[in-house]
Amino acid sequence: MRIAVAGLAIESSAYATHRAGYRDFTVLTADEVRERYAFLAPGTPLGDAARWIGVFYARSIPGGRVERAVYDDFKARIVEGLRAAGPVDGLYLDVHGAMSVEGMDDAEGDLVTAVRAVIPPGALVSAPLDLHGNVSEVFARAVELPTCYRLAPHEDAWETRERAARNLVDVLGDRLAGGSRTVHRAWIPVPILLPGEKTSTRVEPARSLYGLLPSAEAKDGVTDASIWIGYAWADEPRCHATVLVTGDDPAVVAAEAEALAARLWDVREEFGFVGPAGTLAEGVARALRSPGKPYLVSDSGDNPGAGGSGDVSSTLGRLLRVPELTGPGAPVTYVASVFDAAAIDVLFAAGIGAEVAVTVGADRVEVRGILAGRYTGDPDAGRIAVIRAGGLHAVVTEFRKAYHATSDFAAIGLDPAAADIIVTKIGYLEPTLYDLARGGQNWTLALTPGPVDQDLERLGHHRINRPMFPFDAFAERPDLTARML
Ligand SMILES: [Zn+2]
Repeated sequence: MRIAVAGLAIESSAYATHRAGYRDFTVLTADEVRERYAFLAPGTPLGDAARWIGVFYARSIPGGRVERAVYDDFKARIVEGLRAAGPVDGLYLDVHGAMSVEGMDDAEGDLVTAVRAVIPPGALVSAPLDLHGNVSEVFARAVELPTCYRLAPHEDAWETRERAARNLVDVLGDRLAGGSRTVHRAWIPVPILLPGEKTSTRVEPARSLYGLLPSAEAKDGVTDASIWIGYAWADEPRCHATVLVTGDDPAVVAAEAEALAARLWDVREEFGFVGPAGTLAEGVARALRSPGKPYLVSDSGDNPGAGGSGDVSSTLGRLLRVPELTGPGAPVTYVASVFDAAAIDVLFAAGIGAEVAVTVGADRVEVRGILAGRYTGDPDAGRIAVIRAGGLHAVVTEFRKAYHATSDFAAIGLDPAAADIIVTKIGYLEPTLYDLARGGQNWTLALTPGPVDQDLERLGHHRINRPMFPFDAFAERPDLTARML
């Protein structure tokens, strides 16, 4: 069994000024690609089940649209690598599902169409995706075995990637042994578009909805059952939720998919923010009053983890104008982060302890204070400086960086457990910050403006299909019958 391994993964907000270029991607080639997956190591059941041929893999943290030339180059490297790999029985294609590329509407659909053209007609394609991917019909037709995460936050990312490999090995193994396993797919686009912060599987209704997947998958005749809640910060016709069930038995596959799609539709009104949402001012007021420390405030509109630019500085500007944060005796507040390479040049020319004044970020916010720290060597952020204004510690980086873990703060000499207030560009809290906020008790999800604004109507989509929940009223239930591919 020969299986090629390739991939290209980023989640892109179409509303971000950031463009993802070569600097944003980590590129792996040849054996490095296979080595990325511990479950494909020689000596493991999956690793020994096939000859896995690493081709090309590039991954970036979420950001803006990918520069067209960069996408075209990566696609060409995947296509050429597959051609060079010779005939394969299968392709393991690791994509995110919400990549936007300049001038394109369905980047993953384009990529998989290109790779299908160079692999043998009978080869099977298996793809693990993020549940925030948007699955077009083009993509669904080209990939026999798609699957996606079942948890948000994505604590099951590696389990999902392994499941995608196992599904591929199982079906190919049966075929090569002369078995009769076929792969039927039931694809159902569901006209729902919601931000990830309303669909976390930590809370209902997503918890129970995604909880249905293992039992659907356990049915005879089903290989995989998946729900993509979709990605709301792009403006493409493929932006919507999707149910996709695969397996041997077309009747069972269709019935399971329709049951899941109906359930998703029926609970649509129940999706609410995963945590206590509010304005930035409300978040700050709650933080100042909170007896429990530290108190976390998500600056959600520019969350790089969802595709924010990372340079929106309006939140920092507003916090600097709060006297309780910058005056004498102010609580220790960390504000992370804004990237601004020009400001970093200025800060690295000053001495620690010096009074500095720099203008940072897309909103050109002036920060005056004491240069409290400088750090180098972060592979994402480049050079980093911390400016202290009263109790407020503003983190400025050279390049985009997400402060989503306590270790990100510790790496620049800030002890998150000792802080009173932490404001960071994030949506729902990732695990270590979630724990720090006492399971999300000391936390406000601040609905700040930015490229990944949680208030989708403020963004103004023009190119999604209508009607779409929650933008439009539905006179009748949408058609949620399975389209068999
Ligand atoms: Zn995701």
